[in-house]
Amino acid sequence: MPKHPLIAGNWKMHGLREAIPEVLAIDAASRSARASVAIFPPSTLLCPMREALADSPVRLGGQDCHTEPLGAFTGDLSAEMLKDAGADMVILGHSERRHGHKEACEGVAAKTRAALRAGLEPIICIGETLDQRQEGLTHAVLSKQLRDSLPETLEGQTFHVAYEPVWAIGTGHVPTDDQVVDAMLLIQKHLAKRFHNQVVPHTLYGGSVKPDNARHLLTLDGVDGLLVGGASLKAADFNRIIAAAD
Ligand code: PEP
Repeated sequence: MPKHPLIAGNWKMHGLREAIPEVLAIDAASRSARASVAIFPPSTLLCPMREALADSPVRLGGQDCHTEPLGAFTGDLSAEMLKDAGADMVILGHSERRHGHKEACEGVAAKTRAALRAGLEPIICIGETLDQRQEGLTHAVLSKQLRDSLPETLEGQTFHVAYEPVWAIGTGHVPTDDQVVDAMLLIQKHLAKRFHNQVVPHTLYGGSVKPDNARHLLTLDGVDGLLVGGASLKAADFNRIIAAAD
């Protein structure tokens, strides 16, 4: 049976409690959707959203986690804390953390192990910068990120990988169809070689996904879901992206 597409919304550092009605409108659309839907709000909204979405099919996730379950790490949150606050999933290795917080692949792998320890389903992000693409390094970069960011403990676990070219995030620039398919197939080959999971990982595309390009992106080989930033903040936009997967 084909996988249900996964449509994930990364709210980044956006959203106060007054945004809860947006997620209720997303919940309403998700109930009749073919896609599985997940929202990754700022951690401060996990508890109130979980309460508001008590019997909802919409899953919630964190945007990062620490490697340790607890300790003297001021300002950090553990995977166990995200779980306790109502998260089912967590995004790891987003380029805004790899570049803005200097996170290396080995750290992403350690966080992935922490997520699994806490029972969170990870979405691990990879993607090349524009310079790397222009220098012909895309395959080498993606292969290294896959090799070093995905720990062996993912064997047998449910997880997902998102291809997010750094130059496509928040820029309005979307790769060509060939560029997307090339990256997705590289990821799928890598996963098939290394992991033998019962639940086949979703491979998501992310970077300037909008209501107008979502349907087309979902038709591309290897794209079985979307990771959406800016266009996930308003239910009016995000619900059109969810509907694109019907
Ligand atoms: C993202 O941050 O994961 C993302 C894909 O952002 P945007 O959709 O805004 O490009």
